[in-house]
Amino acid sequence: MVCVRCPKSCELAITFAPDGSIASICGEGCRLGTAYATEEITDPKRIVTASISIAGSMEPLSVKTAAAVSRTQVFKVLDEIKALKLKAPITTGTILKEDIAKTGVSLVATKSIG
Ligand code: SF4
Repeated sequence: MVCVRCPKSCELAITFAPDGSIASICGEGCRLGTAYATEEITDPKRIVTASISIAGSMEPLSVKTAAAVSRTQVFKVLDEIKALKLKAPITTGTILKEDIAKTGVSLVATKSIG
């Protein structure tokens, strides 16, 4: 696994115990690598991005989660994004929905639509 937390891109070697838990992580250049590998193995997270239609606009609005959410919740987040009914105007950074899909993370606009 390659750590993507900084441009150094350390190659991490992970070994597992017989019960499937992490036995060791080697190759990290700093402690962030250990945290990255642990999260990727136990509960990987991703920022969700999408484009949605807006009433009163010919242009789609691009949106993203303000922070990464568990990959297990990505489809629930996308379902809630799809169900949103929004109207222009919307400015970049506007919180469109707090705690989307009960993730504790807000959905924000990444574009302004007048
Ligand atoms: S382990 Fe640390 S130094 Fe290496 S890529 Fe990750 S953040 Fe960068």
